[in-house]
Amino acid sequence: MHAAPLASLDQWDDDVRARYQPDRQKEAFRQYGEGVPERVREFYRLNHTHQTRDFARSKRAQYEGLNKTQMGIWEALEFLNTLVDDSDPDTDLSQIQHNLQTAEAIRRDGHPRWFVLTGLIHDLGKVLWLWGEPQWAVVGDTFPTGCAWSDKVVLHEFFAENPDKQVPEYQSRLGVYREHCGLRSVSMSWGHDEYLFHVTRKYLPEPAQYMIRYHSAYPIHREGAYEYLLDSHDREMLEWVRKFNPYDLYSKSDAPPDPIALRPYYEDLIAEFFPSKVAF
Ligand code: FE
Ligand code: FE
Repeated sequence: MHAAPLASLDQWDDDVRARYQPDRQKEAFRQYGEGVPERVREFYRLNHTHQTRDFARSKRAQYEGLNKTQMGIWEALEFLNTLVDDSDPDTDLSQIQHNLQTAEAIRRDGHPRWFVLTGLIHDLGKVLWLWGEPQWAVVGDTFPTGCAWSDKVVLHEFFAENPDKQVPEYQSRLGVYREHCGLRSVSMSWGHDEYLFHVTRKYLPEPAQYMIRYHSAYPIHREGAYEYLLDSHDREMLEWVRKFNPYDLYSKSDAPPDPIALRPYYEDLIAEFFPSKVAF
């Protein structure tokens, strides 16, 4: 297994939650870097050093053929659940519970069924970690590759060691892209978002695809960076990503859901959108 600075993948999620406390001041982002725990800093150092444009594109090419395995969606949730249990004995919530809590909070607010389902599955891409991908290629805030890094990416100073720093073409504001080319043309850093988008894209409505693909793109959906890469369709769809985000971040304090009691409801919901086996 690769170097694993984080005690568990959840440590990154927890840190994002700390960064975006609901009462956060506008100024807080800039000062945030100093308060980051050492393990999380080391995680971002690795992420920002190794997530090059070539890396992101080669991982996409490796995984987008979806020939790794076939699993049912609930089965994939149970598989993902094997992750936290042995890597972090201190974690209070399992992966299945985080996914269920997100879905249940969306359901309580009366949102459409596809939105609830998106909550249930949004982190399934973390199975990448079980397949031996390093933490920095599974989680972390995502950002465009192939153009200059925004200083709105957390701990952006660690990009100094990224080999793309030596590629002049990638260091201009637009890099390899055209003004307002649209996110669909942009190679984001590789992680659980981009991967699950490819697994689920043909089964879900487009707002769900955006929620899955960009939920970790905090520099874009939360900090307003890279506006010059977005088109009007992205701006419309990012509203859905923003609608989704609080359920992901702030449902963790809710009472832990009971997977056994909830399973029949969610199996029905899964069957409405997905075949019994899905290609990963
Ligand atoms: Fe996630
Ligand atoms: Fe999540």
